[in-house]
Amino acid sequence: MKKLFFFTLSLFLFSTFSVFSQEKNPVIENIQKEAYENSQLEILGHELLDDIGPRLVGTPQMQQAHDWAVAKYKSWGISAENQQWGEWKGWERGITHIDMVYPRIQTLDGTQLAWNPGTSSKGVTAELIVLPEIKDSISFKKWLPNVKGKFVMVAMKQPTGRPDENWKEFATPESFEKMKTEREEQTKVWDENIKRSGYDRRSIIPALEEAGAVGIVDSYWSKGFGVNKIFGARTKKIPSVDIELEDYTMLYRMVEHGDKPKIHVVAESKDLGRVPTFNTIAEIKGTEKPDEYVILSAHFDSWDGGTGATDNGTGTLVMMEAMRILKKVYPNPKRTILVGHWGSEEQGLNGSSSFVADHPEIVSNIQAVFNQDNGTGRVTSINGAGFLQSYDYMSRWLRAVPDTIRKNIETTFPGWPARGGSDNASFVAAGAPAFSLSSLSWNYWNYTWHTNRDTYDKIVFDDVQSNVILTAILAYMASEDDAKTSREQVILPIDDKTGERQTWPTPRVPERKGGM
Ligand SMILES: [Zn+2]
Repeated sequence: MKKLFFFTLSLFLFSTFSVFSQEKNPVIENIQKEAYENSQLEILGHELLDDIGPRLVGTPQMQQAHDWAVAKYKSWGISAENQQWGEWKGWERGITHIDMVYPRIQTLDGTQLAWNPGTSSKGVTAELIVLPEIKDSISFKKWLPNVKGKFVMVAMKQPTGRPDENWKEFATPESFEKMKTEREEQTKVWDENIKRSGYDRRSIIPALEEAGAVGIVDSYWSKGFGVNKIFGARTKKIPSVDIELEDYTMLYRMVEHGDKPKIHVVAESKDLGRVPTFNTIAEIKGTEKPDEYVILSAHFDSWDGGTGATDNGTGTLVMMEAMRILKKVYPNPKRTILVGHWGSEEQGLNGSSSFVADHPEIVSNIQAVFNQDNGTGRVTSINGAGFLQSYDYMSRWLRAVPDTIRKNIETTFPGWPARGGSDNASFVAAGAPAFSLSSLSWNYWNYTWHTNRDTYDKIVFDDVQSNVILTAILAYMASEDDAKTSREQVILPIDDKTGERQTWPTPRVPERKGGM
């Protein structure tokens, strides 16, 4: 009875919408039923993020993840394969252990950077040194021999480890302003000081290595409690580690006060030479229009400070679960539904742009691409990517999405073409209608994106589940649509800076031999 009442009520509320939401469409009903009653998200998340772990390009874990995904798809009766598109420097992260050993003992929170050259299992023990006040490049050269035999601290000592929201909540307005002003000034002074050496933040590192430093200690604070961003090492032979703000600033103060702290760093890793790198591609073949494609898209790789849970474990889970559900409730789609789990997005959309370059026959027959890559949150915005008619088909498809999910989504039509950021840009550049399903932040930029805290526990499964339903319904609607989508592009506005009309982005040339 309750159900019947609800149905009548919703019919009344949505009477202005299309037939799809008025009649109970069994496929749409079944997508939701399967998503809610038989969700595989938690187990998939556990296997991918906890068991396999981070998926840095060129690592054995990336390869394991590709193999795992192919096996999963096959277990669901979906054909899948790994398609090689390039090669990358092969590297495997080993044990990192960092301790302060003088003047007292304390185990420190930190890790080696990606592609770190690695130490022996015994590690390296040495005193720390910070950059001096630099007058000019000559005085810097004179000072350089001081780094010999030392770990060099190359990040500014942050004045606070509290995020700004925390200051905003508890500080007096005056002291919050004072802190921000001082920090800005300190950052400016720090940057100018490095500049006077004749180097910048990046190029100074090889100079320090050449001068005989035994290691580089960095700290890339991500402006939240306990979060640092972890990227790649820039040293050839000596270890590069990132130490979290709390411990890094303590060490820095100790050096400044003449305590001569020493640290012991074990940062083992393996150089694996050159390894092939892949995209995992799976598909459910279309029955009526097998040569037209609806593409589900999410990059598979990650940085490796955490386990890549929200960048882009959650996008990956959305696409896998949507494919599983579609195969079960919509096994004979009109158009082919293909999923791309791209490699090496993080180094510049390399897997997806290779796919676009290698498969022109697919790209010219794309009905729509749905990409998700900005965290665990429910989708809150979709823009028409600069396709003039996108309003027509996207809003038609969105009308089939249950109101509980659709009501959160703000749409912008015709929108603008993506010029980077994630893999949808690779398709847009080739003129294919590709859309980003853009998520609510959940403090993505500070707390999880490329950080040491991008882990399973940050996943909000209710939101991910809602994204699965959205994606599966959009894929179904795009597949069933009577018409092929229009690719007509908007006329882009005049660029304020150049005074010239902006042009549509052009396909980027992928890096196919990376890190070598
Ligand atoms: Zn990403």
